[in-house]
Amino acid sequence: MESWPRPAVPQLEGEAAPVRLFDTAADAVLPLEADADGRVRLYVCGITPYDATHLGHAATYLAFDTLIRALSQAGVEVEYAQNVTDVDDPLLERAAKTGVDWEDLAESQTDLFRGDMAALRVIPPNAYVRVKDIVDEIAEAVDRLVADGFGYAVPTNDADGEDIYFDVAAVQATGRYGLGEMSHFSPDKLASAFVEFGGDPDRPGKRSPFDPLLWRAHREGEPSWDAGVGAGRPGWHVECAVIATSELGPQVTVQAGGRDLRFPHHEMTCAHATALTGEPFARHFAHAGLVGYEGTKMSKSLGNLVLVSKLTQAGRDAAAVRLTVLGHHYRSDWEWFEGELCENEARLERWREAAGRATSGGAETVSEMRARIADDLDTAGAIAAVDAWAAEATPGMEVVAAVDALLGIDLLAS
Ligand code: ZN
Repeated sequence: MESWPRPAVPQLEGEAAPVRLFDTAADAVLPLEADADGRVRLYVCGITPYDATHLGHAATYLAFDTLIRALSQAGVEVEYAQNVTDVDDPLLERAAKTGVDWEDLAESQTDLFRGDMAALRVIPPNAYVRVKDIVDEIAEAVDRLVADGFGYAVPTNDADGEDIYFDVAAVQATGRYGLGEMSHFSPDKLASAFVEFGGDPDRPGKRSPFDPLLWRAHREGEPSWDAGVGAGRPGWHVECAVIATSELGPQVTVQAGGRDLRFPHHEMTCAHATALTGEPFARHFAHAGLVGYEGTKMSKSLGNLVLVSKLTQAGRDAAAVRLTVLGHHYRSDWEWFEGELCENEARLERWREAAGRATSGGAETVSEMRARIADDLDTAGAIAAVDAWAAEATPGMEVVAAVDALLGIDLLAS
């Protein structure tokens, strides 16, 4: 489906440093090697469209937007896919509770998200795929997993058919996926995260507590599609596994998303994809930190969301919102404060004023910015370099293009 308009990105001249990125599995900052064909295949988990777009979402997508910008400047072509989780429990529950049609809810929230991404000048994915458009493919994958011994039926007492679960032990037996190996979660943490994200460890009939749902048999009032295993709808992880492998191929270079997705979602997506393709799913695992507000996690259930659209509707500059987010390292957890937005509005004014009086030069600042961004996306370091530039008596013009290319801010736009 359509994503959102692509912002113009200037290509900087000169040598770019190779990009280094923290890898969750290795627990270290590593060089991000492109695939054999020179490309980087990036899969970033998209929104569940019922609470778009709060600052936590914005921070995740701006983190990987910065990665794409860094890679592009280093001459690496990025193939980027993102999903919309429009068929899943939280959205369907919200729709049922508020009496809104689930498709209308998903559509309106996805529109809001697209508008926010465009306002923030986030580079759109090449493939933007919502689940409801590819459920038939997902159903085929579920049938195949069952046929290949990776899925099994569990009887239901509130539906005609059977629910289908994924057999984690079966994929572990292939030696290509190990429970907890990417997330490094302890058994206790695996258990609590599994439950936090809707898992049902104690469901009778499951072979193992961490086996996740692949296909949920049709229940009254829920959307339903046909599959060989019976009418129903897909589980969350298999949706991403199928979208990622069908858009990017059997192996992605980077699997990315918010840090809360490490387990079960990202590990189980890997487990499903590996069972489907016979290959390890990703070479590199990247996770963005979480944004808090008023001393706690920002979440719809707590009712403390700061929405990008609310800020821009109130006349706040989207570029200042962007700059506020980029002021924090993408891996850190941080808290949103209104005061920081004000500081960044003032910063932006200083930068625009400097751009207005800039003359030739600025290469040193540009190379410092490139080095900072290439080093695990140190946006705060790049911002500090631009601050120093803006304070110069004769700021160099080349920095204006670098601020646009690397930080996504067009200082010459009114
Ligand atoms: Zn996902």
